[in-house]
Amino acid sequence: MHYFTKLKMNRILVITLSAFLFLACKTKTKEEKQEKKQEVVNVYTHRHYKADQELFAQFEKETGIKVNVTNAKADELIQKMTVEGSQSPADVLITVDAGRLVRAKEKGLLQSVTSEFLNQTIPVHLKDIDNQWFSLTKRARVIVYNPEKVTPEQLSTYEDLTSPAWNKKILIRSSGNIYNQSLLASMIASQGEEKAAAWATGIVNNMARSPKGNDRDQIKALVAGEGDVAIVNTYYIGKLLNSKDSAEVKVGKAIRIFFPNQKDRGTHINVSGAGIAKYAPNKDNGIKFIEFLSGVKAQEVFAKANYEYPVNPNVAPSLLLTSWGDFKEDNVSLSLLGKNNKKAVLTFDKAGWK
Ligand code: FE
Repeated sequence: MHYFTKLKMNRILVITLSAFLFLACKTKTKEEKQEKKQEVVNVYTHRHYKADQELFAQFEKETGIKVNVTNAKADELIQKMTVEGSQSPADVLITVDAGRLVRAKEKGLLQSVTSEFLNQTIPVHLKDIDNQWFSLTKRARVIVYNPEKVTPEQLSTYEDLTSPAWNKKILIRSSGNIYNQSLLASMIASQGEEKAAAWATGIVNNMARSPKGNDRDQIKALVAGEGDVAIVNTYYIGKLLNSKDSAEVKVGKAIRIFFPNQKDRGTHINVSGAGIAKYAPNKDNGIKFIEFLSGVKAQEVFAKANYEYPVNPNVAPSLLLTSWGDFKEDNVSLSLLGKNNKKAVLTFDKAGWK
């Protein structure tokens, strides 16, 4: 080949290659740009259940919106949002109790949401009056008992557990726990501070042991014979019955459930719920996310996988929960429980409830 022709071809080759490289780079930048545009929702959550991870993955699949999860205790998340202020990346705050959502609202960390969908799926008493937060699941705080020692006829109300008949027989976790705080807050709401204080003292006097462990540990202690009755959230019983650990299944099968206060205000309910953060950078995605969690499909997952009662009236509780029977629930305003939280904490302290 002629020397100049060869040189020319080489040049063409170099130019072509450069063009390719240039295009390749350009495409990459485009991809990178697309990555930056990925829709996200940043979720701060106190919920610690496997079912949630499945639901978040399902939401990502359906909407293409990536769920970024920050998991911590509600108080820590509220503190984080307070410190972050208007720079906070949080779009959604999920807690395991309405009390913390009320606190977040009072601190100005949430904002009102307009959603026809949420208006239809969540009953009025289960959401904030200004639509700043919405309940997603319900759990009943029930009395469980050892049927070898106790008959259901001996049980009636939370209040009755302070009678001398239950001396050294009650198992319940510490007062630092939000579920207990909300239970006491519900008593402050229904009977006033004085009677609520007398209840706390009465329970402390009747405790089988100094409070330790979580709800599941109270049930295990009950079956081990450390006490006769325990106060726990319903879904923990579901978890024991469906545990991979056969010893836990045995514990779950050994106890019975009693729904207290059926002849008066009803059994205490606590909820898990969510609100949109005041400075949510992805507010619309946050609303879509809460709508998704209150929809029929997600409510069924909460019901089946985490043994919680659905808030959406179009979804039935799981078979297991249905088998425990219908019950009357205390319909006290959840906002009021949040407002009574501080009083409840002080009352527990005065009663010497660890
Ligand atoms: Fe829990």
